[in-house]
Amino acid sequence: MTQASNAFDLTGKAALVTGASSGLGRHAALLLAKAGAKVAVAARRLEPLVELEKQIEARDGRAIPLCLDVTDQGSVTECVSVAETELGPLSILINNAGVAETAPAFEVTEEGWDRVMDTNLKGAWLVAQEVGRRMAHLGHGGSIINIASVLGLAGSQQIPAYCASKGGLVNLTRALAVEWARHGIRVNALAPGYIETEINADFLAGPAGDKLRKSIPLRRFGQPEDLDGPLLLLASDASRYISGSVLVVDGAQSAAL
Ligand code: NAD
Repeated sequence: MTQASNAFDLTGKAALVTGASSGLGRHAALLLAKAGAKVAVAARRLEPLVELEKQIEARDGRAIPLCLDVTDQGSVTECVSVAETELGPLSILINNAGVAETAPAFEVTEEGWDRVMDTNLKGAWLVAQEVGRRMAHLGHGGSIINIASVLGLAGSQQIPAYCASKGGLVNLTRALAVEWARHGIRVNALAPGYIETEINADFLAGPAGDKLRKSIPLRRFGQPEDLDGPLLLLASDASRYISGSVLVVDGAQSAAL
């Protein structure tokens, strides 16, 4: 292996992936484990996480499943504490847990607004704060990756709370990158476009999805694997001078007029 490719290696590093029970979080956990990291996989429901643990351990990786509600500070503190007891100090956080709600702006309820903001923005903040505090205290630094969205960089119809939450997450990323650089903590955002996962596969395969696909210059939706390179880059020492960045992975969708 060349020196350049070694920079992407995560052997021995401990990572926490939130929202790891499905979709992109699950995929990211498998990816980090394959790159050598010990991974705490966290979400609200334990069963899918136990399945994921088995899958990772069958490939000689190390994983622990943990219950976590990112909107609850007590749950966050407990989860991070157990993760560190089991795996050692965390040096990678993938803040992936997220929810979306589609409704015309006039019809969004206060409850719906709060659910999206509490999960996507406050939740990411609570987990980053808990993990960042420990990284700073132990002095080993680390990499925090916030999973934002192209909808945090531009607006779209009928998804206002999601756009606001992801826009907030993008600028929270910058604020934390500036403040925590002195502790050796890098904070970056990954902004995917439309990536096919179980929850959107039907929609993307339908007529509305077809129209959407034609608006993407690369003429296809993303696959979870399309995030592998960007995730490994941001998680590893290969990005040691990258912090406060927003890495857009959208087939040039947001670049087009
Ligand atoms: P998903 O619904 O499959 O995954 C979301 C995960 O978050 C699930 O594991 C869910 O259990 C977890 N979660 C939700 N609320 C939680 C809470 N309160 N506490 C802990 N975990 C919670 O969707 P996905 O497509 O895999 O999305 C993952 C992330 O990527 C989200 O933040 C989403 O906004 C973002 N994203 C997805 C796409 C896409 O096209 N799939 C595009 C851009 C951004």
